[in-house]
Amino acid sequence: MPQANKTEIIDYVKQNGNILDEYIEKLGAFGRVEGGGIIRPVYTPQWLAAREQLVEWMQEAGLSVRTDAVGNLWGKLEGSEPGKSYASGSHLDTVKEGGKYDGGLGILTAIVALRFLNELYGQPKFSLEAVALCEEEGSRFNKTFLGSRAITGTLPAEELDESADAEGISIRQAAETCGCDLSQLEAARRDDLVGFIELHIEQGRLLDDVKREVGIVQAITGTRHMGVTFEGQADHAGTTPMDLRKDALVAAAQAITKIQAIALEMGRPAVATVGQLSVVPGATNIVPALVNITVDIRHSDQAKKETLISRIETACREAAASQGVSVAIEQHQDRVPALMTPAMINLLQSTADELGILNMPMVSGAGHDSQVMVEQIPTGMIFVPSIAGRSHSRAEYTPLTEILPGVALLAQALYKLAY
Ligand SMILES: [Zn+2]
Repeated sequence: MPQANKTEIIDYVKQNGNILDEYIEKLGAFGRVEGGGIIRPVYTPQWLAAREQLVEWMQEAGLSVRTDAVGNLWGKLEGSEPGKSYASGSHLDTVKEGGKYDGGLGILTAIVALRFLNELYGQPKFSLEAVALCEEEGSRFNKTFLGSRAITGTLPAEELDESADAEGISIRQAAETCGCDLSQLEAARRDDLVGFIELHIEQGRLLDDVKREVGIVQAITGTRHMGVTFEGQADHAGTTPMDLRKDALVAAAQAITKIQAIALEMGRPAVATVGQLSVVPGATNIVPALVNITVDIRHSDQAKKETLISRIETACREAAASQGVSVAIEQHQDRVPALMTPAMINLLQSTADELGILNMPMVSGAGHDSQVMVEQIPTGMIFVPSIAGRSHSRAEYTPLTEILPGVALLAQALYKLAY
Protein backbone atom coordinates (compact mmCIF):
# COMPACT_ATOMS: atom_id res chain seq x y z
CA MET A 1 0.00 0.00 0.00
CA PRO A 2 1.44 3.41 -0.92
CA GLN A 3 2.23 5.40 2.18
CA ALA A 4 -0.48 8.00 2.70
CA ASN A 5 0.60 11.08 4.55
CA LYS A 6 -1.78 11.54 7.46
CA THR A 7 -3.07 14.93 6.42
CA GLU A 8 -2.73 14.45 2.65
CA ILE A 9 -6.35 13.43 2.26
CA ILE A 10 -7.57 16.28 4.49
CA ASP A 11 -5.72 18.84 2.37
CA TYR A 12 -6.90 17.30 -0.88
CA VAL A 13 -10.53 17.21 0.29
CA LYS A 14 -10.30 20.85 1.39
CA GLN A 15 -8.81 21.92 -1.93
CA ASN A 16 -11.19 19.98 -4.17
CA GLY A 17 -14.27 19.37 -2.08
CA ASN A 18 -16.27 22.33 -3.37
CA ILE A 19 -17.29 20.12 -6.29
CA LEU A 20 -19.78 18.68 -3.78
CA ASP A 21 -21.65 21.98 -3.51
CA GLU A 22 -22.36 21.85 -7.22
CA TYR A 23 -23.37 18.17 -7.07
CA ILE A 24 -25.72 18.72 -4.11
CA GLU A 25 -27.48 21.60 -5.85
CA LYS A 26 -27.83 19.75 -9.15
CA LEU A 27 -29.02 16.48 -7.63
CA GLY A 28 -31.48 18.42 -5.46
CA ALA A 29 -33.10 19.85 -8.58
CA PHE A 30 -34.41 16.40 -9.64
CA GLY A 31 -37.91 16.17 -8.19
CA ARG A 32 -37.91 19.66 -6.71
CA VAL A 33 -41.40 21.07 -6.28
CA GLU A 34 -42.69 24.55 -5.66
CA GLY A 35 -41.57 25.68 -2.21
CA GLY A 36 -38.24 23.90 -2.51
CA GLY A 37 -38.97 20.38 -1.22
CA ILE A 38 -38.05 17.30 -3.23
CA ILE A 39 -40.41 14.50 -4.24
CA ARG A 40 -38.33 11.74 -5.82
CA PRO A 41 -39.89 8.35 -5.20
CA VAL A 42 -38.29 5.28 -6.69
CA TYR A 43 -38.89 4.45 -10.40
CA THR A 44 -40.36 7.86 -11.28
CA PRO A 45 -39.09 9.98 -14.19
CA GLN A 46 -37.39 12.39 -11.79
CA TRP A 47 -35.68 9.46 -10.01
CA LEU A 48 -34.48 8.07 -13.34
CA ALA A 49 -33.19 11.47 -14.47
CA ALA A 50 -31.28 11.87 -11.19
CA ARG A 51 -29.72 8.44 -11.70
CA GLU A 52 -28.63 9.41 -15.21
CA GLN A 53 -26.92 12.47 -13.78
CA LEU A 54 -25.08 10.24 -11.31
CA VAL A 55 -23.86 8.03 -14.16
CA GLU A 56 -22.17 11.06 -15.67
CA TRP A 57 -20.47 12.02 -12.41
CA MET A 58 -19.37 8.45 -11.75
CA GLN A 59 -17.80 8.26 -15.20
CA GLU A 60 -16.05 11.60 -14.65
CA ALA A 61 -14.64 10.13 -11.44
CA GLY A 62 -13.10 7.28 -13.43
CA LEU A 63 -15.58 4.64 -12.30
CA SER A 64 -17.08 1.94 -14.50
CA VAL A 65 -20.86 2.08 -14.22
CA ARG A 66 -23.63 -0.51 -14.18
CA THR A 67 -27.13 -0.96 -12.79
CA ASP A 68 -28.49 -4.10 -11.15
CA ALA A 69 -31.91 -5.78 -11.33
CA VAL A 70 -33.68 -3.47 -8.86
CA GLY A 71 -32.06 -0.34 -10.24
CA ASN A 72 -29.22 0.22 -7.79
CA LEU A 73 -26.48 2.16 -9.60
CA TRP A 74 -22.89 1.03 -9.07
CA GLY A 75 -19.69 2.88 -9.98
CA LYS A 76 -16.57 0.76 -9.62
CA LEU A 77 -12.90 1.50 -9.24
CA GLU A 78 -11.48 -1.92 -10.16
CA GLY A 79 -8.88 -3.35 -7.79
CA SER A 80 -5.76 -5.22 -8.84
CA GLU A 81 -6.90 -8.27 -6.84
CA PRO A 82 -10.33 -9.44 -8.00
CA GLY A 83 -13.07 -11.05 -5.95
CA LYS A 84 -13.37 -8.59 -3.08
CA SER A 85 -15.02 -5.20 -2.99
CA TYR A 86 -15.73 -2.39 -0.54
CA ALA A 87 -18.63 -0.03 -1.13
CA SER A 88 -20.00 3.26 0.09
CA GLY A 89 -23.26 4.98 -0.71
CA SER A 90 -26.82 5.71 0.31
CA HIS A 91 -30.32 6.00 -1.14
CA LEU A 92 -31.49 8.04 -4.13
CA ASP A 93 -35.20 8.23 -3.27
CA THR A 94 -36.66 10.90 -0.99
CA VAL A 95 -39.62 11.29 1.32
CA LYS A 96 -42.45 13.54 0.19
CA GLU A 97 -41.08 17.08 0.11
CA GLY A 98 -37.78 16.02 1.61
CA GLY A 99 -34.46 17.83 1.54
CA LYS A 100 -31.31 17.72 -0.60
CA TYR A 101 -29.13 15.83 1.86
CA ASP A 102 -31.03 12.78 3.13
CA GLY A 103 -29.62 9.89 1.11
CA GLY A 104 -28.28 11.96 -1.78
CA LEU A 105 -25.33 13.22 0.24
CA GLY A 106 -24.14 9.68 0.98
CA ILE A 107 -24.09 8.86 -2.75
CA LEU A 108 -22.28 12.06 -3.71
CA THR A 109 -19.67 11.77 -0.97
CA ALA A 110 -18.97 8.18 -2.04
CA ILE A 111 -18.42 9.25 -5.67
CA VAL A 112 -16.20 12.14 -4.58
CA ALA A 113 -14.20 10.01 -2.12
CA LEU A 114 -13.49 7.42 -4.83
CA ARG A 115 -12.59 10.15 -7.29
CA PHE A 116 -10.10 11.68 -4.86
CA LEU A 117 -8.56 8.30 -3.99
CA ASN A 118 -8.21 7.51 -7.68
CA GLU A 119 -6.54 10.87 -8.34
CA LEU A 120 -4.22 10.60 -5.33
CA TYR A 121 -3.29 6.93 -5.29
CA GLY A 122 -4.51 5.32 -8.52
CA GLN A 123 -5.70 1.74 -8.66
CA PRO A 124 -6.56 0.13 -5.30
CA LYS A 125 -5.68 -3.43 -4.35
CA PHE A 126 -9.32 -4.32 -3.72
CA SER A 127 -12.19 -2.83 -5.69
CA LEU A 128 -14.00 0.23 -4.38
CA GLU A 129 -17.58 1.01 -5.36
CA ALA A 130 -19.93 3.95 -4.98
CA VAL A 131 -23.57 2.92 -4.91
CA ALA A 132 -26.84 4.80 -5.32
CA LEU A 133 -29.35 2.53 -3.59
CA CYS A 134 -32.65 2.61 -5.41
CA GLU A 135 -35.05 2.90 -2.48
CA GLU A 136 -35.06 3.26 1.28
CA GLU A 137 -37.86 5.53 2.45
CA GLY A 138 -40.98 3.50 1.61
CA SER A 139 -42.61 6.66 0.29
CA ARG A 140 -44.08 5.03 -2.82
CA PHE A 141 -44.79 1.37 -2.09
CA ASN A 142 -44.95 1.40 1.70
CA LYS A 143 -42.03 -1.05 1.53
CA THR A 144 -38.61 0.04 2.66
CA PHE A 145 -34.99 -0.87 1.83
CA LEU A 146 -35.61 -2.31 -1.67
CA GLY A 147 -32.03 -1.57 -2.73
CA SER A 148 -30.17 -2.92 0.27
CA ARG A 149 -32.48 -5.92 0.59
CA ALA A 150 -31.76 -6.90 -3.02
CA ILE A 151 -28.02 -6.61 -2.36
CA THR A 152 -28.22 -8.79 0.75
CA GLY A 153 -30.57 -11.31 -0.87
CA THR A 154 -33.38 -10.58 1.60
CA LEU A 155 -35.97 -9.13 -0.79
CA PRO A 156 -38.60 -11.82 -1.54
CA ALA A 157 -39.64 -11.87 -5.22
CA GLU A 158 -43.34 -12.13 -4.21
CA GLU A 159 -43.12 -8.66 -2.70
CA LEU A 160 -42.45 -7.21 -6.15
CA ASP A 161 -45.92 -8.21 -7.31
CA GLU A 162 -47.83 -7.92 -4.04
CA SER A 163 -46.87 -4.34 -3.18
CA ALA A 164 -48.41 -1.51 -5.17
CA ASP A 165 -48.36 2.27 -5.03
CA ALA A 166 -51.42 4.54 -4.63
CA GLU A 167 -52.23 4.07 -8.34
CA GLY A 168 -52.14 0.29 -8.07
CA ILE A 169 -48.82 -0.03 -9.96
CA SER A 170 -46.75 -2.90 -8.58
CA ILE A 171 -43.06 -2.63 -7.74
CA ARG A 172 -42.30 -4.89 -10.71
CA GLN A 173 -44.34 -2.82 -13.16
CA ALA A 174 -42.81 0.44 -11.95
CA ALA A 175 -39.28 -0.96 -12.05
CA GLU A 176 -39.76 -2.23 -15.60
CA THR A 177 -40.60 1.29 -16.80
CA CYS A 178 -37.06 2.19 -15.71
CA GLY A 179 -35.43 -0.67 -17.57
CA CYS A 180 -34.98 -2.94 -14.56
CA ASP A 181 -35.00 -6.69 -15.22
CA LEU A 182 -36.44 -8.17 -12.05
CA SER A 183 -36.18 -11.72 -13.36
CA GLN A 184 -32.51 -11.20 -12.46
CA LEU A 185 -33.25 -10.31 -8.82
CA GLU A 186 -31.01 -13.12 -7.53
CA ALA A 187 -28.07 -11.67 -9.43
CA ALA A 188 -28.38 -8.36 -7.53
CA ARG A 189 -27.17 -10.16 -4.43
CA ARG A 190 -23.53 -9.30 -3.69
CA ASP A 191 -21.58 -12.01 -1.93
CA ASP A 192 -18.28 -10.35 -2.82
CA LEU A 193 -18.95 -7.17 -0.83
CA VAL A 194 -16.73 -7.31 2.25
CA GLY A 195 -17.41 -3.88 3.68
CA PHE A 196 -19.92 -1.04 3.45
CA ILE A 197 -19.70 2.49 4.82
CA GLU A 198 -22.67 4.87 4.63
CA LEU A 199 -22.26 8.59 5.18
CA HIS A 200 -25.54 10.26 6.11
CA ILE A 201 -26.73 13.46 7.71
CA GLU A 202 -27.55 12.97 11.37
CA GLN A 203 -31.20 14.11 10.98
CA GLY A 204 -31.07 15.20 14.61
CA ARG A 205 -29.36 18.07 16.42
CA LEU A 206 -26.83 16.42 18.71
CA LEU A 207 -23.71 17.01 16.58
CA ASP A 208 -24.76 20.58 15.85
CA ASP A 209 -25.40 21.23 19.55
CA VAL A 210 -22.01 20.00 20.76
CA LYS A 211 -20.09 21.10 17.66
CA ARG A 212 -18.55 17.75 16.76
CA GLU A 213 -17.55 17.18 13.14
CA VAL A 214 -18.71 13.58 12.77
CA GLY A 215 -20.67 10.96 14.64
CA ILE A 216 -19.57 7.33 14.52
CA VAL A 217 -22.75 5.27 14.60
CA GLN A 218 -22.61 2.43 17.10
CA ALA A 219 -26.15 1.16 16.59
CA ILE A 220 -29.33 1.90 14.72
CA THR A 221 -32.21 2.00 17.08
CA GLY A 222 -34.79 -0.76 17.47
CA THR A 223 -38.44 0.19 17.01
CA ARG A 224 -41.81 -1.04 18.25
CA HIS A 225 -45.11 0.36 17.06
CA MET A 226 -48.16 -0.27 19.21
CA GLY A 227 -51.83 0.62 18.97
CA VAL A 228 -53.58 1.14 22.30
CA THR A 229 -57.37 1.26 22.57
CA PHE A 230 -59.13 2.54 25.69
CA GLU A 231 -62.80 1.62 25.89
CA GLY A 232 -65.09 3.36 28.33
CA GLN A 233 -68.71 4.40 28.04
CA ALA A 234 -70.46 7.14 26.11
CA ASP A 235 -72.64 9.16 28.46
CA HIS A 236 -74.35 12.53 28.64
CA ALA A 237 -71.79 15.21 29.49
CA GLY A 238 -74.39 17.16 31.48
CA THR A 239 -76.21 14.49 33.45
CA THR A 240 -73.38 12.07 34.30
CA PRO A 241 -71.61 13.05 37.54
CA MET A 242 -67.80 13.09 37.37
CA ASP A 243 -67.44 10.23 39.83
CA LEU A 244 -69.66 7.92 37.74
CA ARG A 245 -67.93 8.26 34.37
CA LYS A 246 -65.87 5.82 32.36
CA ASP A 247 -63.95 8.37 30.33
CA ALA A 248 -61.62 6.75 27.79
CA LEU A 249 -59.94 10.03 26.87
CA VAL A 250 -58.94 10.82 30.46
CA ALA A 251 -57.38 7.35 30.64
CA ALA A 252 -55.53 7.95 27.36
CA ALA A 253 -54.36 11.37 28.53
CA GLN A 254 -52.95 9.89 31.73
CA ALA A 255 -51.22 7.17 29.71
CA ILE A 256 -49.72 9.72 27.31
CA THR A 257 -48.16 11.85 30.05
CA LYS A 258 -46.87 8.70 31.77
CA ILE A 259 -45.33 7.46 28.49
CA GLN A 260 -43.41 10.72 28.21
CA ALA A 261 -42.29 10.52 31.86
CA ILE A 262 -41.06 6.92 31.48
CA ALA A 263 -38.96 7.68 28.37
CA LEU A 264 -37.51 10.79 30.01
CA GLU A 265 -36.69 8.86 33.15
CA MET A 266 -34.90 6.11 31.17
CA GLY A 267 -32.84 8.84 29.50
CA ARG A 268 -31.35 9.15 26.01
CA PRO A 269 -31.55 7.40 23.59
CA ALA A 270 -34.94 6.11 24.81
CA VAL A 271 -37.80 7.78 22.95
CA ALA A 272 -41.54 7.17 22.96
CA THR A 273 -44.05 9.10 20.89
CA VAL A 274 -47.82 9.16 20.75
CA GLY A 275 -48.36 10.49 17.25
CA GLN A 276 -52.02 9.72 16.57
CA LEU A 277 -55.15 9.88 18.65
CA SER A 278 -58.74 9.27 17.69
CA VAL A 279 -61.80 9.90 19.88
CA VAL A 280 -65.20 8.27 19.45
CA PRO A 281 -67.85 9.58 19.34
CA GLY A 282 -65.85 12.82 19.45
CA ALA A 283 -68.56 15.29 20.42
CA THR A 284 -68.56 18.27 22.77
CA ASN A 285 -71.36 16.96 24.95
CA ILE A 286 -70.56 13.24 25.13
CA VAL A 287 -68.17 11.50 27.52
CA PRO A 288 -65.54 9.85 25.24
CA ALA A 289 -66.20 6.14 24.84
CA LEU A 290 -63.38 4.91 22.65
CA VAL A 291 -59.89 6.30 22.24
CA ASN A 292 -57.15 4.89 20.09
CA ILE A 293 -53.53 6.03 20.30
CA THR A 294 -50.41 4.94 18.46
CA VAL A 295 -47.13 4.59 20.33
CA ASP A 296 -43.72 4.61 18.60
CA ILE A 297 -41.06 3.27 20.98
CA ARG A 298 -37.33 3.23 20.19
CA HIS A 299 -34.13 2.19 21.91
CA SER A 300 -30.76 1.03 20.61
CA ASP A 301 -30.38 -1.56 23.40
CA GLN A 302 -32.74 -4.48 22.95
CA ALA A 303 -33.04 -5.26 26.69
CA LYS A 304 -33.76 -1.62 27.49
CA LYS A 305 -36.21 -1.45 24.62
CA GLU A 306 -38.10 -4.39 26.13
CA THR A 307 -38.10 -2.66 29.53
CA LEU A 308 -39.40 0.53 27.94
CA ILE A 309 -42.18 -1.39 26.19
CA SER A 310 -43.27 -3.28 29.29
CA ARG A 311 -43.28 -0.11 31.45
CA ILE A 312 -45.41 1.64 28.84
CA GLU A 313 -47.83 -1.29 28.69
CA THR A 314 -48.13 -1.23 32.48
CA ALA A 315 -48.72 2.53 32.43
CA CYS A 316 -51.54 2.09 29.90
CA ARG A 317 -53.19 -0.61 32.00
CA GLU A 318 -52.90 1.47 35.18
CA ALA A 319 -54.32 4.53 33.46
CA ALA A 320 -57.26 2.46 32.19
CA ALA A 321 -57.89 0.93 35.61
CA SER A 322 -57.87 4.34 37.29
CA GLN A 323 -60.81 5.40 35.07
CA GLY A 324 -62.65 2.10 35.11
CA VAL A 325 -62.16 1.59 31.37
CA SER A 326 -60.76 -1.42 29.53
CA VAL A 327 -57.62 -1.39 27.45
CA ALA A 328 -56.40 -3.47 24.51
CA ILE A 329 -52.82 -3.28 23.28
CA GLU A 330 -51.95 -4.35 19.74
CA GLN A 331 -48.35 -4.93 18.70
CA HIS A 332 -47.51 -3.79 15.21
CA GLN A 333 -44.05 -3.40 13.69
CA ASP A 334 -41.08 -4.57 15.71
CA ARG A 335 -37.45 -4.13 14.70
CA VAL A 336 -34.52 -5.15 16.86
CA PRO A 337 -31.63 -2.68 17.15
CA ALA A 338 -28.88 -3.14 14.54
CA LEU A 339 -25.39 -2.93 15.98
CA MET A 340 -22.76 -1.69 13.56
CA THR A 341 -19.77 -3.99 13.00
CA PRO A 342 -17.17 -3.44 15.78
CA ALA A 343 -14.23 -3.56 13.34
CA MET A 344 -15.85 -0.83 11.24
CA ILE A 345 -16.61 1.29 14.31
CA ASN A 346 -12.97 0.94 15.40
CA LEU A 347 -11.68 1.78 11.92
CA LEU A 348 -13.81 4.94 11.68
CA GLN A 349 -13.06 6.05 15.23
CA SER A 350 -9.29 5.54 15.03
CA THR A 351 -9.10 7.10 11.55
CA ALA A 352 -11.04 10.16 12.71
CA ASP A 353 -8.68 10.50 15.69
CA GLU A 354 -5.61 10.20 13.45
CA LEU A 355 -6.96 12.88 11.12
CA GLY A 356 -7.79 15.17 14.04
CA ILE A 357 -11.50 15.09 13.20
CA LEU A 358 -13.68 15.77 16.26
CA ASN A 359 -15.88 12.73 16.61
CA MET A 360 -18.28 11.11 19.00
CA PRO A 361 -20.07 7.77 19.25
CA MET A 362 -23.75 8.02 18.39
CA VAL A 363 -26.91 6.02 18.13
CA SER A 364 -29.15 6.51 15.11
CA GLY A 365 -32.76 7.11 16.00
CA ALA A 366 -33.73 6.83 12.32
CA GLY A 367 -33.61 3.74 10.13
CA HIS A 368 -30.96 3.40 7.40
CA ASP A 369 -29.87 0.97 4.68
CA SER A 370 -26.90 0.17 6.91
CA GLN A 371 -29.18 -1.76 9.26
CA VAL A 372 -29.98 -4.13 6.39
CA MET A 373 -26.41 -4.28 5.06
CA VAL A 374 -24.93 -5.08 8.48
CA GLU A 375 -26.86 -8.34 8.62
CA GLN A 376 -24.60 -9.73 5.86
CA ILE A 377 -21.71 -7.30 5.36
CA PRO A 378 -19.34 -5.57 7.81
CA THR A 379 -20.87 -2.10 7.96
CA GLY A 380 -20.13 1.28 9.50
CA MET A 381 -21.86 4.66 9.41
CA ILE A 382 -20.59 8.23 9.51
CA PHE A 383 -22.95 11.03 10.53
CA VAL A 384 -22.32 14.64 9.57
CA PRO A 385 -24.25 17.43 11.31
CA SER A 386 -27.74 18.56 10.38
CA ILE A 387 -28.12 22.25 11.13
CA ALA A 388 -30.68 22.60 13.94
CA GLY A 389 -31.46 18.92 13.45
CA ARG A 390 -33.85 19.63 10.59
CA SER A 391 -34.58 16.69 8.28
CA HIS A 392 -37.34 15.14 6.17
CA SER A 393 -38.00 18.75 5.28
CA ARG A 394 -36.81 21.23 2.71
CA ALA A 395 -35.09 22.99 5.64
CA GLU A 396 -32.49 20.22 5.71
CA TYR A 397 -29.07 21.87 5.56
CA THR A 398 -25.42 21.10 6.14
CA PRO A 399 -22.81 23.62 4.92
CA LEU A 400 -19.91 22.26 2.86
CA THR A 401 -17.43 23.02 5.67
CA GLU A 402 -19.35 20.60 7.89
CA ILE A 403 -19.51 17.91 5.21
CA LEU A 404 -15.82 17.83 4.29
CA PRO A 405 -14.49 16.29 7.52
CA GLY A 406 -16.86 13.37 6.91
CA VAL A 407 -15.60 13.04 3.33
CA ALA A 408 -11.97 12.98 4.50
CA LEU A 409 -12.83 10.33 7.08
CA LEU A 410 -14.71 8.25 4.51
CA ALA A 411 -11.88 8.48 1.97
CA GLN A 412 -9.15 7.64 4.47
CA ALA A 413 -11.12 4.69 5.88
CA LEU A 414 -11.69 3.33 2.35
CA TYR A 415 -8.00 3.85 1.65
CA LYS A 416 -7.05 1.77 4.65
CA LEU A 417 -9.44 -1.00 3.61
CA ALA A 418 -8.68 -1.18 -0.09
CA TYR A 419 -5.11 0.01 -0.79
ZN1 LIG B 1 -31.88 8.60 4.57
